[in-house]
Amino acid sequence: MHELGLAEDVLKLLKEKAKDQGLLKLSYAKVAIGETLITDQPEFHELFSMISAGSPAEGMKLEIEISPLKAVCSGCKKDFIPKDLRFDCPHCGSTDIKVASGREIIIKEIR
Ligand SMILES: [Zn+2]
Repeated sequence: MHELGLAEDVLKLLKEKAKDQGLLKLSYAKVAIGETLITDQPEFHELFSMISAGSPAEGMKLEIEISPLKAVCSGCKKDFIPKDLRFDCPHCGSTDIKVASGREIIIKEIR
């Protein structure tokens, strides 16, 4: 049921953004989703169309862009792709790591 929570979050963000831009009905949205958040895209789309029924996002085209997981080392400032969720820097071995992307939802475009 992981995808359901994600679909609800995306819908909430889309509604807020639509309101900001004064859009009553959405026909298209492009959303970047961190790869750690989404595991099953077809299921996500299915759930999204189910929960968006009756909302401004009903029937719109949803394009998903996956943001790859990327971490930045606070020690040497280099970035890297964490493997197997091991968060130590492959460049200098520091464990002071910040996740730079891969855990977020960003609405890139709506219309
Ligand atoms: Zn480092």
